[in-house]
Amino acid sequence: MSDGTTDEIKARLNIVEFIGSYVRLEKSGAHYKACCPFHQERTPSFMVNEEKAMWHCFGCGKGGDVFAFVMEMEGLEFREALKMLADRAGVELPQYRGEEKNKETKDRIFDLLELATKFYEKQLAGGVGEEKIVSYLVGRGLSLESIQKFRLGYAPDGWRHLLDFLVGRGFKPEEIETAGLIIRKSKEGDPDSRFKIQDSSFYDRFRDRIMFPIFDILGRVIGYSARVAPGGDESQAKYINTPETPLYHKSRALYGLFHGKQAMKQAGVTVIVEGNTDVIAMHQAGIENTVAVSGTALTEEQLMLIKRYGSEVRLFFDMDGAGQKAARKSAELALEKELLVSVIALPFGKDAAEMGKEDPEKLREAVARFVPALKYFLEASLAKYDSRSSEGKRKIVDEYTELLLFVKNPIERAHWIKELAREIKMEEKLVMSVVQTAIQGRERRERYDAPAGEKARSNSFGKRSELLREELTGMMYADRVVRETLLKLLADDDTKAFLEKHPLHFFLVQAGEREPLTLIEDPLLKSEAMRLSFRILELPDFIGVTDEERTGKMLEVAKKYLEDLKGEIMRREKLIALEQALGEAREKKDKELEKKLLKEFAEISLDKSQ
Ligand SMILES: [Zn+2]
Repeated sequence: MSDGTTDEIKARLNIVEFIGSYVRLEKSGAHYKACCPFHQERTPSFMVNEEKAMWHCFGCGKGGDVFAFVMEMEGLEFREALKMLADRAGVELPQYRGEEKNKETKDRIFDLLELATKFYEKQLAGGVGEEKIVSYLVGRGLSLESIQKFRLGYAPDGWRHLLDFLVGRGFKPEEIETAGLIIRKSKEGDPDSRFKIQDSSFYDRFRDRIMFPIFDILGRVIGYSARVAPGGDESQAKYINTPETPLYHKSRALYGLFHGKQAMKQAGVTVIVEGNTDVIAMHQAGIENTVAVSGTALTEEQLMLIKRYGSEVRLFFDMDGAGQKAARKSAELALEKELLVSVIALPFGKDAAEMGKEDPEKLREAVARFVPALKYFLEASLAKYDSRSSEGKRKIVDEYTELLLFVKNPIERAHWIKELAREIKMEEKLVMSVVQTAIQGRERRERYDAPAGEKARSNSFGKRSELLREELTGMMYADRVVRETLLKLLADDDTKAFLEKHPLHFFLVQAGEREPLTLIEDPLLKSEAMRLSFRILELPDFIGVTDEERTGKMLEVAKKYLEDLKGEIMRREKLIALEQALGEAREKKDKELEKKLLKEFAEISLDKSQ
């Protein structure tokens, strides 16, 4: 993609208007502010700069241009974001002027899956599946409207219904295989010898199954979750899913996300259920902020996706052993991702679909009764062991500590330790020390695994000079005049050498008349540059003034900082020299000199160290 097209899109789209269609922006000084849509917060740290057409969040560190925003917000890849924004901006993309032939594999697969979905839908509504499948689904409490909305379908029994259909529509078997819809026959023949397969090396993956299409965030089918049909071969797995394909990744897919995302964002809460039919039942009951994982345990990637829409999850899992185990695992992962986690408990043995069928009102009531996960699992441990015996107490503490390890906020953790101590009638301090020991053990392990560079950086010498360097770099990114003036002011001395060591300095020198941000390719460096420049623009001195006044003020401050930095570097050199002299004096056992040098050392160290 040529830069010309992305630039044209950026020029035509107003970033404030565009981002403003997702979040409520308020003008604040040189830029616009909002509560960040990518992490939970109460005071806005998400900034949009109209002039630079960039955004940045001080809370989570994310930032970039309008493309980065829409990719993050809608979960799109760059090419998809490009298509969407080109549409919005009314810019035609050169690649897509060609015909079908030139379409990329992904587009072909999207088309193929759309056709397959229509095929399955047709089999259900009026095809061979109508009688037995529709009546089964309606019997499970799903309305005809929901069946249509979620585009449920039926894959008929047989080996090549879909294969023949799609080949007839001009798709190659290899493409259909890539989409995960057919299986290549192994050389030894099909494992199931009861069926004779025609002289083809492929056969349909989904046979005699109810098809639940899985949509991406834009509503395109990327795969299926397929349930064995009623009266079908029950010896087979109840559900099978599309395997990993270029479009379908089970660790990222969420059933119901497309239909639920609006409600998820509005509520800031996502209800996670176990099954596809549970999702549909919840939607029918008006609880649309519901998703299910399909064919996997809840993953980190899915949680990060959910987190875009709000910081709270409610787990609504079956009450049986497997369901509760999955709920606990999911709660741990969600706590670790710093989400607010609750559990919805149902009367034993009922899932959302069953309850919704009985009475949608009851389902709504049940969903409204959620308990914080940390309370829920404490009660579960208390019910499991005898909290009066010392053996029981130990088990409860151990089991609950395992969960507390995932809680990052120390205040929250302290609160639940208190609750635990109260419930098992033990001294809080004692319980606290048990939990602390476990946490420290874990942290020690984690620190051991951390990269060496981070450890070194945290205790590096000369924090103040580093801070000054950051501020100066930020100012040079924030204002062109400041950048040009400062770069001229820098003589060939230690200050210049020190500033040059900052990884972002290079682009400032290279920029000339251009905007230095546009020269940075590396997304991490770019985000760091954004952070520094936004931090400067946020200073009270630079808010609510004209651009000229701002430049003038900033120049004043920058010159002072440069002087400070000079002093700081000289001080540091003196200290290094003194340290050396001290070492020599000690070696020579010159007590008098040592004393004098130490005094000097202390004076310089204290000076300005505030
Ligand atoms: Zn943020």
